[in-house]
Amino acid sequence: MPQSILFLAHVDESGTNLPKAAYEALGAARDVAQQLGQPLTIGLIGDRIESAANSIAAAGAQKILAVSGPDFAKARYSTDAAAAEAICRAAAAEIVIAPATSRFLRALPGLAYRLKGCVDTHLTSIGVVEGKPSVTRWFYRQRLEAVVQRDARPWILLLDSGCHAAWCGAPAKAAVQALDVQVAPEAKRTLVTGIRVPKSDAQTIRPDAKLLFVAGAGWTKKQPDGKTHVPEAEALILEFLRGSGASLGGSKSLVDQSGENQAVLGFMTHLNQVGQTGSTPRHPKGLSTCCHGEEPHVVGWRFVNERRAVNLDPNCGWARGKADVLYVADAFQVMAKLNTLLASRR
Ligand SMILES: Cc1cc2nc3c(=O)[nH]c(=O)nc-3n(C[C@H](O)[C@H](O)[C@H](O)COP(=O)(O)OP(=O)(O)OC[C@H]3O[C@@H](n4cnc5c(N)ncnc54)[C@H](O)[C@@H]3O)c2cc1C
Repeated sequence: MPQSILFLAHVDESGTNLPKAAYEALGAARDVAQQLGQPLTIGLIGDRIESAANSIAAAGAQKILAVSGPDFAKARYSTDAAAAEAICRAAAAEIVIAPATSRFLRALPGLAYRLKGCVDTHLTSIGVVEGKPSVTRWFYRQRLEAVVQRDARPWILLLDSGCHAAWCGAPAKAAVQALDVQVAPEAKRTLVTGIRVPKSDAQTIRPDAKLLFVAGAGWTKKQPDGKTHVPEAEALILEFLRGSGASLGGSKSLVDQSGENQAVLGFMTHLNQVGQTGSTPRHPKGLSTCCHGEEPHVVGWRFVNERRAVNLDPNCGWARGKADVLYVADAFQVMAKLNTLLASRR
């Protein structure tokens, strides 16, 4: 059965480039098209898409369709869904593969409704099994992995970042077929006037970082001298984040302390929490400090490949097969030493 494959992407906040997740979704779309023996079409949305189109011109797509202009610069459901609908119809797309960015997670489920198709979000892989597109995703806080196939078409697939190798190739001059989408005045009533994010998260949560640094409640507990050292802990952690570019995670005990009127790290919020009731970030490496490594926390490390932990307690959870390396040491001392080493490298 022929299955026309469309890779769909939008430009990032710069207005001209594609987000990293888009190159990963493109890698998956190319693989699927190749395995199904079907041509690939690319669809782009944004204010100015030329540079983005050139960056993927060598990806081997049969054609590149685009809806562009100031109306499509910012994330807005009405215009994003209209642009995506026009591209999908022009491409007669049956399988649509797109990155699971916050912009597309908001707009593409509505696209599926408009096209009388189906959508699946937060996919961790897209492949072909017995000649049919087949996707995987997690359920029940990453405990159950489902393999999903559907007969409904068009089938819109949003691939989570960090799950497929990004396509990369040299830029080339792209031949882009522009589609004209007229936007009714009522579709432009919503205006994006800016993005407001909590300062701490903007600075500390970095999904593309190579390293996840996790701070646990131990940082705020009484230390061997019988006193707490919260200001020192804050300084050490912030200096390490600055020097290493790591993303900051926290244990539940630590992030909960702010609600319990205990000494807290000022930059730590619930958005940093890693674990069963927190997030499941994807990073090549992880370093846990002053965190016990209990199962409800460690379940959030599922996608962190190489794990190390620093804990004073040689019987902590990390010692029981949860980390590749456990340093039985004082994290205050280890991080001070690490910061010195990082500073000397700069
Ligand atoms: C339903 C449910 C869901 C949960 N979901 C989550 C979740 O999503 N995420 C999560 O994190 N937890 C979760 N928990 C809680 C989890 O079980 C633990 O209570 C929590 O992770 C403990 O946090 P912690 O290890 O930072 O603190 P603690 O258990 O207090 O451990 C602190 C550690 O710091 C060490 N330490 C102290 N000082 C130093 C030092 N100077 N150097 C080195 N080490 C030091 C101590 O040895 C100790 O091991 C959940 C629990 C339940 C019941």
